[in-house]
Amino acid sequence: MKVASVIVDVPSKQTDREFDYLIPAHWLETIKPGMRVIVPFGPRNIQGFVTEIKAESEFKKLREINEPMDLEPVLNEELLDLGNWLTENTLCFKIYAFQAMLPAALKAKYEKKVMLSEGVHLNQLPVQLQEAFKHEEAINWDEALKNGLVPILQREAANGLLEVIYVVKEKLKKKQLKYVIPKLSSGELEAAHDSLPQKADKQKVVLKYFVEHSDPVELRQLLSQLNISASTVKALVQKGFLAEQDMEVYRDPYENRTFSRTEPLPLTEDQQRAMVPILDSIEKKLHEVFLLYGVTGSGKTEIYLQTIQDVIEKGREAIVLVPEIALTPQMVNRFKGRFGNLVAVLHSGLSAGEKYDEWRKIQRKEVRVVVGARSAIFAPFENLGIIIIDEEHETSYKQEEMPRYHARDVAIERAKKNNCPVVLGSATPALESFARAQKGVYTLLSLPNRMNKRALPAVEIIDMREELRAGNRSMFSRKLFELLKERIDRKEQSVLFLNKRGHSSFVMCRDCGYVMNCPNCDISLTYHKVKEQMKCHYCGYESYVPSQCPECSSDYIRYFGTGTQKVEDELGKILPEARVIRMDVDTTGQKGAHERLLKEFHEGKADILLGTQMIAKGLDFPNITLVGVLSADTMLHLPDFRSSEKTFQLLTQVSGRAGRHELPGEVIIQTYTPEHYSVELAGIQDYDRFYHREMLMRKAHHYPPFYYLALITISHENLMNVVSSTEKIAAFVRSRLSNHAVVLGPAASPIPRINNRYRYHCLIKYKREPELNKTLKAILDQYQADPKSGLLVSIDVNPFILM
Ligand code: ADP
Ligand code: ZN
Ligand code: ZN
Repeated sequence: MKVASVIVDVPSKQTDREFDYLIPAHWLETIKPGMRVIVPFGPRNIQGFVTEIKAESEFKKLREINEPMDLEPVLNEELLDLGNWLTENTLCFKIYAFQAMLPAALKAKYEKKVMLSEGVHLNQLPVQLQEAFKHEEAINWDEALKNGLVPILQREAANGLLEVIYVVKEKLKKKQLKYVIPKLSSGELEAAHDSLPQKADKQKVVLKYFVEHSDPVELRQLLSQLNISASTVKALVQKGFLAEQDMEVYRDPYENRTFSRTEPLPLTEDQQRAMVPILDSIEKKLHEVFLLYGVTGSGKTEIYLQTIQDVIEKGREAIVLVPEIALTPQMVNRFKGRFGNLVAVLHSGLSAGEKYDEWRKIQRKEVRVVVGARSAIFAPFENLGIIIIDEEHETSYKQEEMPRYHARDVAIERAKKNNCPVVLGSATPALESFARAQKGVYTLLSLPNRMNKRALPAVEIIDMREELRAGNRSMFSRKLFELLKERIDRKEQSVLFLNKRGHSSFVMCRDCGYVMNCPNCDISLTYHKVKEQMKCHYCGYESYVPSQCPECSSDYIRYFGTGTQKVEDELGKILPEARVIRMDVDTTGQKGAHERLLKEFHEGKADILLGTQMIAKGLDFPNITLVGVLSADTMLHLPDFRSSEKTFQLLTQVSGRAGRHELPGEVIIQTYTPEHYSVELAGIQDYDRFYHREMLMRKAHHYPPFYYLALITISHENLMNVVSSTEKIAAFVRSRLSNHAVVLGPAASPIPRINNRYRYHCLIKYKREPELNKTLKAILDQYQADPKSGLLVSIDVNPFILM
């Protein structure tokens, strides 16, 4: 008799622990820790993860596991441990931690069904239902709903004749394709070929093919290659010469693409110096965190590639995290180009099926390198030799829903377990990381120069207030306009960058100042030109665009803000000859659109690439000689203590897009606050001065890296209720922490209402509070245990967004 500990797929306070189940004798050999199983839970059957197998349980009367869902564990031992670590450190339910480590395709879906209760006979049911249950023992709830059967079903369920069950549905099928294989030897096929009558010429062509090729070939490919129809193949199958067979194939997002192979480049002295300590750490199997600090174009990626080479040669594996990788096909090219089929790619642009297949390549040890976005940090490798996080300062490495983890922390935890180095790469490291490198917690490796000593582009900051004073009301300064024109004449390319965050197009009345807000959330609605609609980005509320002001009936109600569409319109007016490619959420929604637009720009099909932050990354084309930032300060005024840092990082990053090759580059930054240090220092690309300046601010205001943060957000439909609950929670936190901790709040969140729920928060700043996690857990325990109160409490340890 063996017992399995199982985490069940019910995210709630009461079920956030292991439940014991008996393993039926016939599954004893099969079921292993890390497997998904189906277990009875209350009246239902649900999915769970086996975390442990043990000889006995302290509980009596255990129920049995129904069946395993996997043939092999989907989580290895290290990942099972990591799940517990995630649970502890991000204060999430265990089930969320385990699910986060797997591709979405492996998350269970449940189908609601109705079946006869045990011992009930069909003829005990009303006639109307007998028909429905005649052929099936369980009928689908959704179908019953459609057929209007639900009320009767409910009545009979109340009578005990029927019961509702939940059936776990595997969401994803492996992809199967039809292949054709020869059933005879080449010689026999040749004889068969000769024996066929003359007029069976199509069949002869097929047999001739298999005389020459003995490997299975995909049916569709065979048909198109030989220009024959499926019936020809059928005929040969019937004669016993060939066979058709379903074979599993991977959905390969990079199918039909060739990657030209690249060889390691001879390293520069700087690169060599930076690489030695990393190789040393790999060689000695000693965990260490390196901060590889170097401007864009200083050769960081080449170092990644060559250290990975070393790791592969030692028989180990590598994870490379890249922000929003779908957006940088060039990055994928570099890894596939160097390591070919040894690379799996995981990012949000893939379909669930494609992701699942890439993940299985890792699980089956068919690849040694994974390049991916945040969640690729959970790649099920078992012998990691290095973890690399490129652009480590990127906010997308933090997950904003449960489990609220930062990929950097997970990377370090995994690397400790695997005794391997972590390399954090950036031109503008997160303040926290640079501070750690200064203190020696991380090892700082610098690449001070761009490759071939190419100069950084010249950056000019334009004061837009001056433009206005000079009578220029356009969103383009005179200088930017002039340079754009010049580029078109010279047949060079420009990139225009619009910092969209916190600055979307809204509708305002010019007479009375009325702004159209979402009725459910306290933020302005965003104007969408294509659909002529107003939309709330938080709750999805949609509304028509008014032609008159609802407040004062004025006709002067217009949309404001410089959305990409508006910039495109204006470009069309002032530079009608310019060919423009626009890249934003609207034009890149379709799969592959991003890559296609970039390709077109690369091929010179446009003069100007206009876009939001998504174009700031990875863009590396030789013909770009001008970068314009339309409004540098839209992000500077967000209620976020990191807004200066983010502005600096973004401006530095976009500036790096110009002049990466032979042609020299120019950068124009337009701003209303040229005197702000993040604008000014980004202009001269001086990270070190920015770092010192910003550290002073952080110290003065008790922010990271001097203090850690934890954010408790409380929401409820009733305002009074939120306020009083937040007060209680804040008081409780204060009572439990030392007087070195700062507890702010209750305060209304920067977005005080979302979807008709009022939001208040309490911000904790602390240095060392051993009791904090326990305290926060106690708060969650209390509020999660009482879902009827309607209060939602969420806790973010090390929050990135304070909204
Ligand atoms: P980063 O990742 O810091 O932006 P990259 O590794 O992309 O820098 O290097 C910038 C450019 O210089 C790339 O085109 C790359 O191929 C080239 N490069 C990198 N290292 C070398 C080297 N050792 N010799 C010649 N060219 C190099
Ligand atoms: Zn008005
Ligand atoms: Zn809304």
